[in-house]
Amino acid sequence: MSLEHALEVVRQASLPPRSRGVIALLEENCTVCMLCARECPDWCVHIESHQEVVPAPQHGGRPRTRNVLDRFAIDFGLCMYCGICIEVCPFDALFWAPQYEYAAASTDGLVHEREQLRAWMWAVPVPPPLAAGAEPPAEVVAAVRAERPGQP
Ligand code: SF4
Ligand code: SF4
Repeated sequence: MSLEHALEVVRQASLPPRSRGVIALLEENCTVCMLCARECPDWCVHIESHQEVVPAPQHGGRPRTRNVLDRFAIDFGLCMYCGICIEVCPFDALFWAPQYEYAAASTDGLVHEREQLRAWMWAVPVPPPLAAGAEPPAEVVAAVRAERPGQP
């Protein structure tokens, strides 16, 4: 089934936008902190990574290491859709998408690797607008400040 067809099925089913259909990964936000894999009660989040040395930004500084994601997979044959992985992720890298039609002929087909999890991001609904008078999100404030250094 193509993603377009899957989205059409969701639209036709008139599902609530926050339905727990499938988990999407925004891998650009993932720091490989492993919290989701550790907290998953079913041990169905599989993460592999390696460390990379990042040179010091300034002369005389110390180089740093950072984790680089090699594999991120969720076994939907084991997942019980509790949402703990999404709740505990400190970096907003996991989201619910309402798409629910991804039956597979074998249990192997229910293991979604990072490319498939990333593709589900296109099915994640846009968040509702903020209530009138609400504070803008901290990351938006930080991004605006970074673009206009020295201004309030
Ligand atoms: S929804 Fe629950 S069971 Fe499924 S991967 Fe996340 S933590 Fe594990
Ligand atoms: S908790 Fe979030 S940032 Fe940490 S490994 Fe899982 S998805 Fe990545």
